[in-house]
Amino acid sequence: MSELAYPYEAPASQALFDRAAAVTPGGVNSPVRAFRAVGGTPRFMVSGTGPYLTDADGREYVDLVCSWGPMILGHSHPEVIAAVQDAVSRGTSFGTPGEGEVALAEEMTARVAPLEQVRLVSSGTEATMSAIRLARGFTQRTKVIKFAGCYHGHVDSLLAAAGSGVATFALPDTPGVTGAQAGDTIVLPYNDLDAVREAFRAHSGEIACVITEASPGNMGVVPPAEGFNQGLKDICSENGALYISDEVMTGFRTSRAGWFGIDGVVPDLMTFGKVMGGGFPAAAFGGRADVMAHLAPAGPVYQAGTLSGNPVATAAGLAQLRLLDDAAYAKVDAVSKEIQGLVTGALTKEGVAHRLQTASNMFSVFFTDRPVRNYEDAKTQESFRFTAFFHSLLADGVYLPPSSFESWFVSTAHDERAVQKIADALPAAARAAAEATA
Ligand code: PLP
Repeated sequence: MSELAYPYEAPASQALFDRAAAVTPGGVNSPVRAFRAVGGTPRFMVSGTGPYLTDADGREYVDLVCSWGPMILGHSHPEVIAAVQDAVSRGTSFGTPGEGEVALAEEMTARVAPLEQVRLVSSGTEATMSAIRLARGFTQRTKVIKFAGCYHGHVDSLLAAAGSGVATFALPDTPGVTGAQAGDTIVLPYNDLDAVREAFRAHSGEIACVITEASPGNMGVVPPAEGFNQGLKDICSENGALYISDEVMTGFRTSRAGWFGIDGVVPDLMTFGKVMGGGFPAAAFGGRADVMAHLAPAGPVYQAGTLSGNPVATAAGLAQLRLLDDAAYAKVDAVSKEIQGLVTGALTKEGVAHRLQTASNMFSVFFTDRPVRNYEDAKTQESFRFTAFFHSLLADGVYLPPSSFESWFVSTAHDERAVQKIADALPAAARAAAEATA
């Protein structure tokens, strides 16, 4: 076993990580899980109940990652588990149409007005990739506008200046993406409508779509400035391009109808994942029926998937969505506010310069004294303070995303005991952040 870098590290997790590193690049199946930005041993989790995760060493953590968003009802919600067990008992995959996928699509379209039709896929990456292809097929144009710091999955053409793991590891470009794939992507600063207008002027008649996170959470939480999303929509409409709102993270999390339920801006296409899968691989893209009619087999733009609309995944997603009523959102919003107040209170008490930014119940902390409006701002934060803050909380049983470029997530299951555990851990973490040096 390799030497432990932190005194409180977990030997069972370390042993698993050593085994993993032998058979999997970097020991993980998704880069940010590896703790490279914060150092130390990633915790190998063995179970989750409500707001808690338990690792291989038997330590319990209050979970503020919630599987990067999906677990909005907490872990092992009995009604979601029952729906999954019921579905599994009837078989796991048929490769035929099934009622579950119809019911999930009906639930989604009923909640989100601009979602006239929806196609189910298995990951958010697949959803954005397919939406871009459809936009290109529909408009007969090639170029795509995206914003620096927004992450739309690891789609070749969308990895340029991406957020999430690409931001965490400060990767300038990803080898393996060809010049041709990247060349049709125009990357602009977030929250800058003038830059968008200028790009449409410079590439008149060439831009198929603008894709944006409905409210970005992959460079930390950086909500759209007042009027930004509507401005994007208007510019797209004036120029015959499609406006794609990526709600993989915000969809069915920030409200019953996701971010659309908050800003009301009507996209041409939308993408979903995370919450709609109830912890299983389910995602979707959809929107205007006339655009969706271009998708095979109704139209010529090809898109398919062996496990698309999988009966177990759709049962989990449907059960979760049906439990997400107004009372559930009120609960998540309230506990999020409470935790936000505790975090900012503890940091303020220790004199730590920070900005706590929110988008409904999503939030994150930037260690800077200036507002963060885009990726350039986000990169000026003192990330070394986050590292100290993160490890102090981890040692005291609070599990944060292991990167300062990620949103924190809570659930309806975050109860008084969980909040108290966070409150107890915060003073030492705030002190560690205050004392940290670069
Ligand atoms: N879009 C957004 C806004 C995301 O946050 C993510 C993942 O975090 C994706 C797309 C990609 O989803 P997936 O990881 O399921 O491929």
